[in-house]
Amino acid sequence: MSYVDKLLRDSIRNLVPYSSARDEFSGEDAVFLDANENPYNSGFNRYPDPQQLKLKVQLGRLKQVHHENIFLGNGSDEAIDLLFRAFCEPCEDNVVSIKPTYGMYKVCADINHVEYRESLLTPDFQIDVEGLLQLVDENTKLVFLCSPNNPTANNLCVADMKAILERVEGLVVIDEAYIDFTNQTSFLAELVNYPNLVVLQTLSKAWGLAGIRLGMAMASREIIRVMNRIKYPYNVNVLTQRQAMERLAQPESKNAQVQELLAERERLRVALSALEGVIEVLPSDANFLMTRFRDAAGVFQYLTAQGIIVRDRSKVARCESCLRITIGTPDENSQLLKALHNFNRL
Ligand SMILES: *Cc1c(COP(=O)(O)O)cnc(C)c1O
Repeated sequence: MSYVDKLLRDSIRNLVPYSSARDEFSGEDAVFLDANENPYNSGFNRYPDPQQLKLKVQLGRLKQVHHENIFLGNGSDEAIDLLFRAFCEPCEDNVVSIKPTYGMYKVCADINHVEYRESLLTPDFQIDVEGLLQLVDENTKLVFLCSPNNPTANNLCVADMKAILERVEGLVVIDEAYIDFTNQTSFLAELVNYPNLVVLQTLSKAWGLAGIRLGMAMASREIIRVMNRIKYPYNVNVLTQRQAMERLAQPESKNAQVQELLAERERLRVALSALEGVIEVLPSDANFLMTRFRDAAGVFQYLTAQGIIVRDRSKVARCESCLRITIGTPDENSQLLKALHNFNRL
């Protein structure tokens, strides 16, 4: 049995997937009488390509990854959920993650009735490698790492992530939702070295397309084949595929916005650090600033009343008294600073 077959749930290993009409024939310019669609062209009368081939080829060129190593889904969240459903036997298997991190991993674990084990980050927000590995056992099917990490905003140490990839039998999922905002290189180039690596990326952050819901998982062909077998047949709709291709054709526009957001991140960091009520602004490799306030609850309430919504992370371990502030447009950031100056004068 292959490495991936051994890791899979029995029910998935033996699955005969649904075969859609468009799986069996996928050419163009044919007379399509196979899927009971309305034949009159509305722009949307046909089912989308279930394998999103054109979009994957375009993405593959951009990311230097073969299209057969890419899974596309309804946000990264679909990829996360499918990994649970493919690899984790409810009530039997477990997954390991860091704490604090993105909330979806635990929600998916709970939904799938899979034990979720968390390893507290060190005070400088790095992985406690030995502590994390102690949580791993033969039923650990997935390890979630997020770099740059949400909500702590920092890159995880590359050597630590490699050590975990080398020492864990199960899949190691590295969530790179914020990869465009950091100088650290993506783990995509490591896919050839680690058969247990899954890299998650998304169009929701730097690419500015949170509304179309397109997330990607990149991994070995065998892992991607499994994910494709269990997804909904037409999981990425025609509108999303088209909009994604249009946006991906303009990487310069994305890059210009990222540059502006990085400049604004620095401006905001300096201005926030100078505020009376701010204890510290944590270093950020992402498009948000974790900011520790003397009175986080008071600031949060005040900002909300002013119509400025930030994320209260003050009850999260290692993030005590912190608000997570997304970098907005220059004008939005100035409004935030003005409001905070006014709060200090109260
Ligand atoms: C925002 C975010 C995502 C994006 O999820 P989508 O479902 O693709 O919108 C994924 N991971 C992390 C850590 C995030 O912060």
